[in-house]
Amino acid sequence: MTERVVIIGSGPAGWAAAIYAARANLEPLVFEGALTQENYQQGTMPLGQLNLTTEVENYPGFPHGDLKGYLSSALPPESLSAVPEFDDPALTGPRLMHLMRQQAKNFGTRVITDDILEVDLSSRPFKLKSLDGIQTEAHSIIIATGARANYLGLPSEDKYKNAGVSACAVCDGGLPRFKSKPLVVVGGGDSAMEEATYLTKFASTVYLVHRRGEFRASKIMAQRVLDNPKITVKWFTGVEEVLGDEKLGVIGVRLKDLKSGVTEDVAASGMFCAIGHTPNTNFLNGQLQTDDKGYIVYTKAFRTDTSVEGVFAAGDVADSYYRQAITSAGTGCMAALDAERWLGAQGVH
Ligand code: NAP
Repeated sequence: MTERVVIIGSGPAGWAAAIYAARANLEPLVFEGALTQENYQQGTMPLGQLNLTTEVENYPGFPHGDLKGYLSSALPPESLSAVPEFDDPALTGPRLMHLMRQQAKNFGTRVITDDILEVDLSSRPFKLKSLDGIQTEAHSIIIATGARANYLGLPSEDKYKNAGVSACAVCDGGLPRFKSKPLVVVGGGDSAMEEATYLTKFASTVYLVHRRGEFRASKIMAQRVLDNPKITVKWFTGVEEVLGDEKLGVIGVRLKDLKSGVTEDVAASGMFCAIGHTPNTNFLNGQLQTDDKGYIVYTKAFRTDTSVEGVFAAGDVADSYYRQAITSAGTGCMAALDAERWLGAQGVH
């Protein structure tokens, strides 16, 4: 049997695409990713980057409140037990992702917990092969494999992820642990400028740590940082170690002057990495047009078409700019509608 639409990826883009495709009676098949150690280590487990965050305060429709009753009624027991800190009243990234997944399943989406390792887009129907050896054919494909944040790669950084180490100020900056405390941001691009500026709303001081003596960021964003009295720039500086405590998480960062080699410990309750993202496109093996950073390029304005007809992209895998759950869900919806209309035009219903 040839699938009408296969969706690869299980973040907000993948599930939004699945919900729309399922409601259009396309019976989508989602490859949500495999539960492997490799995926765990590189932040590419099922349910995407949102599953790695804590509270989500900016997803429309979920004001802060006691969600326990709603979650109990919406999710099956196996999903509930997979959602951490069930007694916490707030909406969390993992909870939101389990809700989206369940919503997609409620409309008949089929889900396979496996990675797609190879695709052949050279002729239709397209061919896909999974890590477990499942071979699938599809009339259309929606790629929603997201991107992964780059981290420095220090063992101490890994240890305190979700305990003060983050790669998303918008997601995590407002958490109580960062309020009125010093924070460290690493990077010299627009993201680092944006994160450092944003974090001054909560932090007492922000140390912006950059490995060179000039920023890569746009002039206007860099100037905003340099003019901000709450930001101290540490030029020619690297992070040697994240200092922490089992109970408190991050308590400081050991910085190293890259010219003199002298180290300095600064107290901080968090470290935010803003050193770029890597889109998850390896499995495509160069078969789709990407930009110079590897993000899939849309070939039509305000559409989710890619360089191969019948293949659509949604979410962070095609977006190095907005990278929000709501924008990913939006493009997921668009991709499903684009796929449905394209399939209709091909006579596939
Ligand atoms: P980016 O422009 O690639 O900058 C990454 C920064 O991280 C660079 O300063 C780089 O240092 C540093 N870096 C990379 N690897 C590092 C490592 N291992 N150790 C220490 N530092 C490291 O990425 P971005 O800031 O995420 O921006 C991505 C794109 O999104 C850009 O096109 C940007 O303009 C856009 N963006 C726009 C806005 C906005 O306009 N509001 C906001 C965010 C992002 P070097 O400079 O030494 O290479």
